[in-house]
Amino acid sequence: MDISKLVKKEVSGLKAYNAKEIPCRIKLDANESPYGFSDALQGITGIRTNRYPDPEAKALRRVIAKDLGVGTGNILFGNGSDELIYYLITTFGGPVSYPVPTFSMYGIIGQALGEEKVEVPLDKDFDIDADLFLTAVKKEKPKLIFFSSPNNPTGNCFSTDRILKVLEASKGIVVVDEAYQPFSSERGMLPLLKDYRNLVIMRTLSKIGLAALRLGFMVADPEIIGEVNKVRLPFNLNSFSQAVAAAALKRKREFRASIRTIISERGRLIEEMERIGAVTPFPSEANFILFRVADPDHVYASLLRKGILVRNLTDAVKDCLRVTVGTPKENTAFLKALKQIVR
Ligand code: PMP
Repeated sequence: MDISKLVKKEVSGLKAYNAKEIPCRIKLDANESPYGFSDALQGITGIRTNRYPDPEAKALRRVIAKDLGVGTGNILFGNGSDELIYYLITTFGGPVSYPVPTFSMYGIIGQALGEEKVEVPLDKDFDIDADLFLTAVKKEKPKLIFFSSPNNPTGNCFSTDRILKVLEASKGIVVVDEAYQPFSSERGMLPLLKDYRNLVIMRTLSKIGLAALRLGFMVADPEIIGEVNKVRLPFNLNSFSQAVAAAALKRKREFRASIRTIISERGRLIEEMERIGAVTPFPSEANFILFRVADPDHVYASLLRKGILVRNLTDAVKDCLRVTVGTPKENTAFLKALKQIVR
């Protein structure tokens, strides 16, 4: 597969903005102020506020590459994975295809950038409908396909063999958005990167306790990384996020403990929701649960009156709401309120 042929011609002719860091004694090249707020903030962050961030996020890059067992040249960072969706569609253009219901940003950004959208309904188990999808791939020849797996908002992982069928049939790029992978019993598709040059894996730190940082990344063939890097804004990751993420990712024990608690609470929530009777929770491999009720608008409003905010998804999935797994105390309060409302 010739990656360069897939890139929009406007992008393939570009060179990435050159913001290399050149070691020097006196730095007078970037129109920064020589005066920062370092005295006041140094004690808190150690960051010199007058200087632009490291454009390549080298320290953080090393930490993540090591964690994932990939090369530093396989990674591109975004200000959240939302930004990477923007960059991918800017680089490759459309048609942009994805199953529905799914994460809304694929469609929002695709449309905003003037690209054609090809939406393919999921099957009754919320899995990819392989026949429908392959027909769409053949007919519409999407440049980009997005699979959120685990899928937001349905919570399930798509079958690997169906993703692979699409990967093999597609002459475009297939992005597997693994935002919720840390909560899944499946290992994700990173090991398949070596077999499929048109595969891109997207991850984020937002769901594992670092949403404030806005930090997502994609892992792919260095040629894809190089092309998408041409449209990346030079300093898209600020210094504070880079530093906090690198420090936080070293605290593995803390991460793993919170993920374990969320997974166990997810199990408890599903069990207790099933016991209510008038509520149908769907299986979840993510940190949220999609559930069906008879009168979703009423349940949504009543929960909110009790101070509990969930997501009303009735527009995307018939009669369904989505609840994010909270702390054990929050989950207990949610269950108690839900029981009172539906009984
Ligand atoms: N992909 C999926 C499937 C998501 O659900 C979300 C968050 N709602 C994102 C990407 C965006 O994550 P980030 O915070 O990294 O922009």
